[in-house]
Amino acid sequence: MSAQPLAPPGAARPRAAWHAATVTDVRRETPTAVRLTLDVPTWPGSEAGAHLDVRLTAPDGYQATRSYSIASATPGGVVVLAVDEVPDGEVSPFLTRELRSGDQLEVHGPLGAFFVWRPGQDDRPVQLVAGGSGVVPLYAMAAAHGATGDGTFFRLLYSVRRPEDAFFSDELAALTGPSFELDVVYTRAAPEGWAGPVGRLDKGALAAATIPASHRPRLYVCGSTRFVETIATWLQELGHAAADIRTERFGGL
Ligand SMILES: Cc1cc2nc3c(=O)[nH]c(=O)nc-3n(C[C@H](O)[C@H](O)[C@H](O)COP(=O)(O)OP(=O)(O)OC[C@H]3O[C@@H](n4cnc5c(N)ncnc54)[C@H](O)[C@@H]3O)c2cc1C
Repeated sequence: MSAQPLAPPGAARPRAAWHAATVTDVRRETPTAVRLTLDVPTWPGSEAGAHLDVRLTAPDGYQATRSYSIASATPGGVVVLAVDEVPDGEVSPFLTRELRSGDQLEVHGPLGAFFVWRPGQDDRPVQLVAGGSGVVPLYAMAAAHGATGDGTFFRLLYSVRRPEDAFFSDELAALTGPSFELDVVYTRAAPEGWAGPVGRLDKGALAAATIPASHRPRLYVCGSTRFVETIATWLQELGHAAADIRTERFGGL
């Protein structure tokens, strides 16, 4: 997947609307998640970090709607999502287990003007912090950063349980270079030969693997509600201003 040049800063933001989507590809992203490619002919494009709502309608007319971040940040009608299954959830088990190429969905978007990164907005470094599926909008930002050749320094700290649970691992590895650094924290099991610690992120590890407050980074934090709240609290304790920390909570604990 590659991002194309995004709208310049100040350009009109695409307006949210309902769109008919056709699933064109379903592939396994992790043991519990799928990557969905949707063809949405009327899609106006989206900014990196935006999300949309997926609405499912049962044969009896019952409807359920959930939000999903957009992994692609491209103009045009291709939208990529990555959905992790929440056991006993109402919508995600359907999306991860039942959805097939050719199926139709209704989507509403693009949504979210706050949790977005726009190329060329300024030269402050950008620190991304993701837990699990929370990497989806941050991957969109990193991909947009790479595709636009924006010189801003980016760093992503990604917390996953095991190596196989990482989303977009090949794409993220391919983006690493002088202006994009990737740090991974394994909370349950690490790859063979891993020399670092295995276990939950703590404030010391967060400080060691993120851009210091003295460099005044913009920070984007995304994951489960508890993950986001814990990280945002620690970042402030490490000296970052609350106004510099943008958060997106996916729900759950
Ligand atoms: C802005 C936004 C963007 C999102 N983007 C993504 C995305 O890109 N990929 C993705 O997989 N999910 C994403 N989510 C989460 C998604 O909207 C759903 O909440 C999730 O798929 C669970 O829906 P469900 O119907 O299966 O579970 P529900 O039936 O809604 O909930 C079942 C149980 O699981 C708990 N729960 C709900 N959500 C979560 C969660 N995320 N983690 C753990 N427990 C949970 C509930 O509290 C409840 O107890 C996003 C959420 C928001 C608000």
